[in-house]
Amino acid sequence: MVPNSNVQKILLSTVLLSSLVLLLHAGAKPPQSAVATAAAPANAAESLAAREQGPTPMLDDLRELCDTIGGRPTGSKACDRAVDWALARFSAAGIESTWTEAYTIPSSWVGGADQAECLSPSRFPIRVASAPFSAPTPGGQSLEARVVNAGDGSPEAFARLGESARGAIALVLTPEMKSESDLFGEYGRDAGMFDAAQKAGVAAVLMQSSQHGVLLYRHPVAFSGTLPIPAAIIARVHAARLARLTEQGDVHVRLDLPSRVGGAIEARNVVAEIRGRERPQEIVLIGAHLDSWDLGTGAEDNGVNAAMVIDLARTFKALGVVPRRTLRFVLFTGEEQGMLGSEAYVLRHAGEMTNHVAMVTFDTGSGHTLGFYLNGREDLRRPVDQALAADPDLGPFEDSLELIDGTDNFDFLLSGVPNLIARQDFGPYLPNYHAESDVYEAVNGPEAKKNAAVAAVLLWGLAENPKRPAPRQSHAEVEKLLHATRLDEQMKTFGQWDEWMAGKRGASN
Ligand SMILES: [Zn+2]
Repeated sequence: MVPNSNVQKILLSTVLLSSLVLLLHAGAKPPQSAVATAAAPANAAESLAAREQGPTPMLDDLRELCDTIGGRPTGSKACDRAVDWALARFSAAGIESTWTEAYTIPSSWVGGADQAECLSPSRFPIRVASAPFSAPTPGGQSLEARVVNAGDGSPEAFARLGESARGAIALVLTPEMKSESDLFGEYGRDAGMFDAAQKAGVAAVLMQSSQHGVLLYRHPVAFSGTLPIPAAIIARVHAARLARLTEQGDVHVRLDLPSRVGGAIEARNVVAEIRGRERPQEIVLIGAHLDSWDLGTGAEDNGVNAAMVIDLARTFKALGVVPRRTLRFVLFTGEEQGMLGSEAYVLRHAGEMTNHVAMVTFDTGSGHTLGFYLNGREDLRRPVDQALAADPDLGPFEDSLELIDGTDNFDFLLSGVPNLIARQDFGPYLPNYHAESDVYEAVNGPEAKKNAAVAAVLLWGLAENPKRPAPRQSHAEVEKLLHATRLDEQMKTFGQWDEWMAGKRGASN
């Protein structure tokens, strides 16, 4: 998830082959063709949920993705390997219809071997992680400069520094992250802070880590273009020490951020499909992003849900459950760069958006599913609750009407497609957000398996119910919704509003 936040805090801102072979050896037809013309299988929802909570290879897949491929920023070789791996996993699950869709990302950013050191009044190493889409230190060289304490990074705090900030490294202090609103606050601060930092003429910005101790994470600072000044997250304890030292006199730091900003690159989404038995042209899509940042191995964000999407396809296929509508399983890339993969998917499939009867995404790690974000669509509450009621053991659930701009539902929302995001407990996700610690061990396996059961039951209900869950909204209806919830203000801050109004984002209806 790429949280953004506006003033209202609206937000915010991823082997059954042997059983198939056994069936064939026994003279039975493969599962899909066996049910392709049949009526709905009895107890499908319970069977799907039971299988997902049993011993599927979902967590083995996650371990392979995290440990063997590792962190996989879009544009990296690791991300390409992850795409090929996912394609192979869908095929191994027996899904005949699997493909990739290429799209272009206008600019890329790759982190380097960041280094920093306090030079005076005493020498000690400082841990830093450059911020995605910030500039490298100039000339591929390290930068040596005086440190100024820019407090909370507000425009007022920079104004108070006056001329002393010119050419200095600005140190910005951050509250410790305790809840998701702290996470949203960290993103909400950026636009004003970097504007003020540039006006003040600082040479670089060091943002105190909101995580404890020396834990570092990637904190993207721009989603359209790049920030012209170097910026990095600095370990919480090192920032605190520097701040105390600045109270006593001059503090000098050497900073080396050799990140690389590159031109346009090609990226790929992965798509797998189980064709519906009665209305194959109508699609229920479940998506999760496959890409991640690179300090950790992208387990909670969002490898676990990418592995879940693969496992869901495997489970439908293994049980031979073919709903009325087509199920499309999509692993997006480019999410961490500003939901670029899902944006590209919507533009590519603009002509068939009306046939996308619902889009569901999971992007909060292995946190318990509490319900679903309805993204402003009260008319989705009943069909979602009806679908989930098919297996009462999984609930209770409580849905939220809140609109989310920060993950892969967003361009579907702009296109008027009924879209849902799992409303998950932030517990396992927050302490590892984009961090070095976002590794396999961070994932709560049993909760992840239960989430897969919830997703399977929801997908079944949405794809089987003869009635569409809700109609597609027109452009005018979407615009009204964005104004009413003040999401328009957030979109303006993040440069999304003009793109949408110009028809460059979402698909008009
Ligand atoms: Zn994510």
